[in-house]
Amino acid sequence: MRAGWEVVIGLEIHTQLATRSKIFSGASTAYGAEPNTQACLVDLGYPGVLPVLNAEVVRMATLFGLAVNATVARRSVFARKNYFYPDLPKGYQISQLELPIVEHGEMMISDADGNEKRIGITRAHLEEDAGKSVHEGFEGQSGIDLNRAGTPLLEIVSEPDLRSAKEAVAYLKKIHTIVRYLGISDGNMQEGSFRCDANVSVRPLGQQELGTRTELKNLNSFRFIEKAINYEIERQVDLIEDGGTVVQETRLYDSDKDETRSMRSKEEANDYRYFPDPDLLPVEISDEYIETQRRTMPELPDAKQARFENVYGLKIDDAAILTASRALADYFEEVVKATEASAQIAANWIIGDLLGALNREGWEIDDSRISAIDLAGLVNRIHDNSISGKIAKQVFEAMWEGEGDADAIIEAKGLKQITDSSAIEAVVDKVIDANPSQVEEYRAGKDKLMGFFVGKVMQETGGQANPGQVNKILKDKLKG
Ligand code: ADP
Ligand code: MG
Repeated sequence: MRAGWEVVIGLEIHTQLATRSKIFSGASTAYGAEPNTQACLVDLGYPGVLPVLNAEVVRMATLFGLAVNATVARRSVFARKNYFYPDLPKGYQISQLELPIVEHGEMMISDADGNEKRIGITRAHLEEDAGKSVHEGFEGQSGIDLNRAGTPLLEIVSEPDLRSAKEAVAYLKKIHTIVRYLGISDGNMQEGSFRCDANVSVRPLGQQELGTRTELKNLNSFRFIEKAINYEIERQVDLIEDGGTVVQETRLYDSDKDETRSMRSKEEANDYRYFPDPDLLPVEISDEYIETQRRTMPELPDAKQARFENVYGLKIDDAAILTASRALADYFEEVVKATEASAQIAANWIIGDLLGALNREGWEIDDSRISAIDLAGLVNRIHDNSISGKIAKQVFEAMWEGEGDADAIIEAKGLKQITDSSAIEAVVDKVIDANPSQVEEYRAGKDKLMGFFVGKVMQETGGQANPGQVNKILKDKLKG
């Protein structure tokens, strides 16, 4: 940040809820279908049709509200937000304005100094998505695909509490993790299931009053969000320092040029002529309903991370990595259950080798070619000294290539560790006899040569001699 300035950021996140059918109709929400095959008369905005609320979205919004310590409204109201756009055949979007389903929540993130910081969540409201204009494959005209029209969204609005692009990303990642833990969204950013608009303003350090903000759109990856905000901070500070003023407007981020461009002037709520939708009853939920949902809440990421540190004794960073998704955390716990080795060793194999292999392929844990039980099998063979850590890497690769489980591979490739001391002694004798001058130098005080001898013994045994025993026997014999 430029000296003397402070940035203020508030995020609006659109999370697509993982329901099978749409928010007000029975049409499917599945992604990737042929255009306009998943839009029924309600989604197409035919006259005379009536929306019917999908109860699942209320359940999902309630879970989210509980997860962020918010008030879940006993009564919320759907409103029409009126505007014209080709992908919105009704001429209005059904959303919530004055009485949203979730209000006054919070989320803890860690700031630049690693301290806990509270970010207020103003509200989260339910709304329907619009359709899409399609330009590709059309000459001099545009197509309209209404498959996405009526897809349920939860819009999560933060207080202007974020003070850097990094904080914004940390907050966004945390919300992303939570909606996936709750199972209320797949969070897929490429498919647009998790989108974010960033409101950005700057002000001289120490000033109380907020500066004029711009709203950045088209931010579809964590990396671009950070870049777009940083670009916008520089642009606004430059502008003000040169004597200009920031105009309140909507700006589009162009990732190819790494810049933001003006898209349209900012509209106000009253431009939309919001009014309560007469076709939908207010949503009323009871305390009992909320308590029923509370009982189905899964363990959330912060609690899980703390448990992984306390119960399994994992390092903080490792606990954070392993709780990044529920699936990964479950995988880890399955490995731990099936092995006698320490949980930290299981964690090391998952974080180092398994996540490494998955990253190479661009895969998630669910795509892993090695099951938790099979990985535990490998860890067990290291733990009982059947193989060394080094040979285990080779076995891991073979498992990844689908050659079988650890025992089968160790057997088939003859990789079992040599722990028979007389066999190791024989090799050590051979190495000592073959390298008289090195032996002499070692005995004259050149301790460093130990590595040379260990290397030779390992070479002779194809890396299969037990390294601890090799060291001990070599030391004894070299003493002379
Ligand atoms: P709108 O109705 O235009 O969407 P809201 O008042 O709902 O505006 O705010 C939208 C988002 O903008 C919220 O996340 C809020 O925290 C943020 N915000 C509001 N004012 C500012 C500002 N001056 N600078 C940065 N962010 C702001
Ligand atoms: Mg808004």
